[in-house]
Amino acid sequence: MDVIIIGGGTAGINALQEARRYTDNVILINNGPLAASGAYHVSVQSNAFLNAVRLYAAQRKLARLGIEGGENVTVDVPRLMASARQAAEAAAQQLRVRLNGGSAYMIEGSAQFEGPTKIRAGGNLYHAKTVVLATGMQSYVPSYLQGYRERLLTAETLFKRQDLPHRIGVVGLGPSGLAMAQAFAELGSRVTSFDERHQLGGLVHGPLVERMHGHLSAAFPMYLGVRPTPRETTTGLKLRWNEDQFCAVDALYVSLGRRPVLDGLSLRRLEIPENDEGMPSYDARTLQLEGVPVYLTSDASDEHFTMHESRDEGVQAVRYALGVDTAPRAVPLPFSVCAGEVSLATVGDIASLLKRSDVSAFEARWEPDHLLAGGAPAVVRLYTRASDGVLLGAEIAAADASHLAQSVAVAVQRHLTARDLLEVPLQGAHTEELLRQVLVSASVPLRATKKHPSPGAFLHHAAS
Ligand SMILES: Cc1cc2nc3c(=O)[nH]c(=O)nc-3n(C[C@H](O)[C@H](O)[C@H](O)COP(=O)(O)OP(=O)(O)OC[C@H]3O[C@@H](n4cnc5c(N)ncnc54)[C@H](O)[C@@H]3O)c2cc1C
Repeated sequence: MDVIIIGGGTAGINALQEARRYTDNVILINNGPLAASGAYHVSVQSNAFLNAVRLYAAQRKLARLGIEGGENVTVDVPRLMASARQAAEAAAQQLRVRLNGGSAYMIEGSAQFEGPTKIRAGGNLYHAKTVVLATGMQSYVPSYLQGYRERLLTAETLFKRQDLPHRIGVVGLGPSGLAMAQAFAELGSRVTSFDERHQLGGLVHGPLVERMHGHLSAAFPMYLGVRPTPRETTTGLKLRWNEDQFCAVDALYVSLGRRPVLDGLSLRRLEIPENDEGMPSYDARTLQLEGVPVYLTSDASDEHFTMHESRDEGVQAVRYALGVDTAPRAVPLPFSVCAGEVSLATVGDIASLLKRSDVSAFEARWEPDHLLAGGAPAVVRLYTRASDGVLLGAEIAAADASHLAQSVAVAVQRHLTARDLLEVPLQGAHTEELLRQVLVSASVPLRATKKHPSPGAFLHHAAS
């Protein structure tokens, strides 16, 4: 073989498709039917669930707009959870049908290294010049919670349940944890939520976090800067924080980031030096593990975990493995979306932008009672390079933050200025207008800007 790909998720499948452009000597080994488990499967479940909850929540708010009857809508939570499972099964089925042409290249089995280029799977031994490791990530459960596994829920285990617990604690209010906490509360569970940091749904700027915290914590308690200590009781888990505060929950949903799935691969046989976190040492620019022709992809290599990053890293890793590309890869642009009732999105590494003295920030907002915002505050905060207005990042809270964030992300990646982005048609009367407003403030006077591309040129870039 020229290359063996281990793992048949987003990264592995895209790696296989890319590899087949250059060689027929490639196989993909996955430890079960494609998309039957792993992050792809889990993300379809949770997206289907969150979409359904948003629809339900929207119905219940219709009365504010003069549309009656919505308040009588009821939800059957076990059916809703079952439909999320069905959505993931249907998506997996479609994926398998789409990829059936590639089945000659796929092998079902759990892969183990017998040497850097020798892989055992399904009772057979395969040899390859290079290996791409695309085994993904799973929810991280820190050691202080390990002893309470029976009471813990994660993205992987939530939909194995038939119903939601009545009292749920949520630890980790990043983009995924916050969206889930909001959904649980909307469906009638009693939610108490915590984050050790003063961040919310990916937002970092202190006053913005406070503003959104003020709005969102009206629905259920949200403690920031707090790590609760659990204790098992006869009726559930008792969570204690700040010495004298506590609550009782039936289950704790853990959303504290994700860690690579490297167990069971016998990677230690390769004697790769390990970093401080016990991860095999690798070069983040070439994705190669130290001293062996093995390339680490996608989720397995960093904290960010979106499908586009997984796809890009799968494709890039196989190009490196086959030697058809040797240029160090560009660092991916951080991008997060919290798809709750009020969606939150960030573009760029906000924590480091906030520390830089050469960065300007601009903000515009609608007040919470604005009809189109559904009662939620809408805020667009842009970060630009002070000298020339080049866009560096954004924090957005709006009814549909993700499409605004995507426009900003294209601009950041293309090194466009606020003025350049203003020339792009941003259709929409509400949050788009908010973005436009803040772009006007962030545009530096013309004489100080570099020559900027025409809108046509921008659209051409964006499409290519
Ligand atoms: C709750 C949740 C919601 C998400 N929502 C979104 C979203 O809205 N938008 C977005 O862009 N991204 C989202 N993501 C992220 C996205 O789903 C992942 O980035 C992407 O699917 C990861 O792909 P992957 O190929 O790296 O990993 P996976 O999909 O996990 O694939 C890894 C595969 O490797 C297999 N495997 C593991 N070990 C072995 C072994 N030893 N031998 C053989 N096979 C093995 C696994 O079974 C699995 O099939 C979400 C993720 C989660 C968890």
